[in-house]
Amino acid sequence: MTDVVIPSFIDGHAVHGSGARFETFNPATGQVIAGVHDCTQADVDAAVAAAQRGFAVWSALTGTERGRILQRAVQILRERNDELAALEVQDTGKPWQEAQVVDVASGADCIEYFAGAAATLAGAQYPLKNAFAYTRREPLGVCVGIGAWNYPIQIACWKSGPALAAGNAMIFKPSELTPMTALKLAEVYLEAGVPPGVFQVLQGRGTTGALLAAHPDVAKVSVTGSVPTGKRVMASAADTLKRVTMELGGKSPLVVFEDADFEQAVTAAMMANFYTQGEICTNGTRVFVQRSILPRFIARLKERTALLRVGDPMHPDTEVGALISAAHRDKVMGYIQIGQDDGATLVCGGHTVAVPGMEGGYFVAPTIFADCTDPMRIVQEEIFGPVMSILAFDDEAEVLRRANDTRFGLAAGVFTRDSARGHRMAAGLKAGICWINNYNITPIEMPFGGARESGIGHENSMVALEHYTQLKTVYVELGQVACGYR
Ligand code: NDP
Repeated sequence: MTDVVIPSFIDGHAVHGSGARFETFNPATGQVIAGVHDCTQADVDAAVAAAQRGFAVWSALTGTERGRILQRAVQILRERNDELAALEVQDTGKPWQEAQVVDVASGADCIEYFAGAAATLAGAQYPLKNAFAYTRREPLGVCVGIGAWNYPIQIACWKSGPALAAGNAMIFKPSELTPMTALKLAEVYLEAGVPPGVFQVLQGRGTTGALLAAHPDVAKVSVTGSVPTGKRVMASAADTLKRVTMELGGKSPLVVFEDADFEQAVTAAMMANFYTQGEICTNGTRVFVQRSILPRFIARLKERTALLRVGDPMHPDTEVGALISAAHRDKVMGYIQIGQDDGATLVCGGHTVAVPGMEGGYFVAPTIFADCTDPMRIVQEEIFGPVMSILAFDDEAEVLRRANDTRFGLAAGVFTRDSARGHRMAAGLKAGICWINNYNITPIEMPFGGARESGIGHENSMVALEHYTQLKTVYVELGQVACGYR
């Protein structure tokens, strides 16, 4: 058992949760990185009380003052990019070449955006007869963020950036599988001048998340996770009518028409399935290809996928790292078996990979199935690994109907050179985000969120600030109280 223990961060101090200990593993080696303690009801109560104190101080600052402090956090994050990215690789198994340019950087971009927006929060004025009304956009109070394990620091930034800019306090619970970088973010915020209690990290498993979601003094919960977790959190938040934002799972379609830029579409299909080992919620895992280009498309995908380098995530050439856990690897391998049993044709991959010197790691080869049909489980269910399903289609109306035939609705992509068709498809696709001639691009300026069972509410863009504020309406009388009473 390792002596290293990753703490929680409550009221400005690193402290260990008072619950049971569990361990976190390096997915590339299967070795224990550190122990972690669950936070219990007592820890949650202490954090909520500290958050209320922090909120009183933080919400009394002007938006400009909060923005200035948050900008300092951005600067520190950028200075520590490589150190934090290395921790993220160790915790998630994702390739260094991704973590170094995306994970911390996109988190810093998010906080920078909302730091700039903090001073712009304003209400409206409504002229009335002998009166006027105005609105104030006020923070909610203590907000809870609950994160998934695929983009740990980015998720912590995407939630805390708008929450803190708007004047709220946030308690963040990272996934039990990736406890490291949210803690570092808490240290960065404190160093930048964010008062104690305003951003806290409670480590723990699902039970800790459930305690936070149920706490009566929490005003809002924002979850990034699976659909079943989202439903559980929403049910428990209903007891005290908390606001919720849900960023949940998906099984998104990527539709490639015969007139598309062929090579670009192949690139997008690979990026939409193999980036971060396929562990991305918006991934375009149902690749619909128009029948006339199907054989050529599959051949080119196979040729290029064979070139992907699976290996030590810290090696700068590695393009596909390790899956998050042994259990998740087994789940993904289980789906690969189901795909074969259900009659899909394995084009490539379909096996685990033994990386020399990292035999305990959870590596799975990028896998492509062709001859898939809509009812197959690999086409219906979220696998969250490097497994692509290719489906043939003939015409636009048919592919739109089939693309929408799912309870999810997170994202969708269309590749075509016919711009009218691209917009027609985007209008018809039942998804929160549609990309035309690209995939998985999520700049901070653009709202991000799912439709149907993939989510409620949005992150990023000015829209996110609405989810972290509430409107108060103030009526101001300029005349007399109208009254017929004697
Ligand atoms: P989970 O739903 O298993 O967990 C998400 C978070 O919720 C974790 O921190 C988890 O803790 C916590 N949690 C679990 N049970 C409860 C509960 N009853 N109450 C409160 N919190 C709870 O998802 P994963 O971590 O496995 O992440 C993968 C999923 O996340 C996929 O479905 C993926 O699509 C989705 N996702 C969605 C994104 C989006 O923006 N739409 C982005 C990234 C991922 P613990 O880890 O300790 O169990």
